[in-house]
Amino acid sequence: MTQDKPYAIGIDLGGTKIIAAIVDQNGCILSQANAPTQKEDEADAVILRIGDLVQSVLADSGVGLAQIRGIGIATAGIIDTHRHMVIFASNLNWSDVAIGDRLHERFGVPVQLINDANAAAVAEWAFGSASGTDDLIYVTVSTGVGAGIISGGRLITGIGDSAGEFGHISLDPEGPLCACGNRGCLENYVSGLALAKMAQEQLQSGTASSLRTCTTGELSRITAKEIGEQAQSGDALSIDLLRQAGYYLGVGLTNLIHLFNPQVIVFGGGVMNNGQILLEEAQRVIRQRCISRMASQATIQLSTMGAEAGVLGAAGMYFPAARKKVAV
Ligand SMILES: [Zn+2]
Repeated sequence: MTQDKPYAIGIDLGGTKIIAAIVDQNGCILSQANAPTQKEDEADAVILRIGDLVQSVLADSGVGLAQIRGIGIATAGIIDTHRHMVIFASNLNWSDVAIGDRLHERFGVPVQLINDANAAAVAEWAFGSASGTDDLIYVTVSTGVGAGIISGGRLITGIGDSAGEFGHISLDPEGPLCACGNRGCLENYVSGLALAKMAQEQLQSGTASSLRTCTTGELSRITAKEIGEQAQSGDALSIDLLRQAGYYLGVGLTNLIHLFNPQVIVFGGGVMNNGQILLEEAQRVIRQRCISRMASQATIQLSTMGAEAGVLGAAGMYFPAARKKVAV
């Protein structure tokens, strides 16, 4: 039956943009389209817009609904994959939105939800450079930190679709209180927000750095992007901040490797766009601390998927065979 349905539709539902794409079993995108989203938009209007994007990519590609296995939706926030609902998404201001049922009513094909870190993991697993391994962890270092864990050929979701909260493992039992309720969470040392906050504190205390001038003195505008760029230009403070973040990331990754014994760890997310210093330091810590056999079995690499990881992972849920193609 599935031979007659060679395509799936992937939707990446973000806080500023929706991307829709028709994807085949090799991860090729036949057609894609996008539209803006804003926090003020009503959920109904956003779902309507997603439906219109689906119509548009179908029309552009000449693919009929009869050839579509299903629609996958990747989104941030808390989801219920059994009821196909977004339970809570702060970036969209959504709570209890039955997006799956709504799109199923309109198109009559299966609809599945997946969180964005898991979608990126499935994209790497099905179509990326890590395709073929059944033990893969995708780590995103962006505004926050998260992970999608594939172990023994299964995406680990947990009972409530919340597994993989790598950003909220504690690295210091007495560390700063995190919004999640825990203390000393990794996200407080490694994320884009954490890097920006530490940079601002250092600059306020008088540390010399080219970061001071690159945002024309407005310290609140410093983000991980500027820190990455200034580090590339040799700024000592930026390099120090990334090394420190890399140290904590390495401690966290050592825990992940000890728990899951992965074959591949793939990194993505905005902070990793300038992530070489961070990654080198993390790898140094892993070599120093990790059980050596497990460290040597884990290949660490940067994602090559780019902005399409969300749609590819959302669609990739419908192509289980793609994940078994080749050995790494
Ligand atoms: Zn936390």
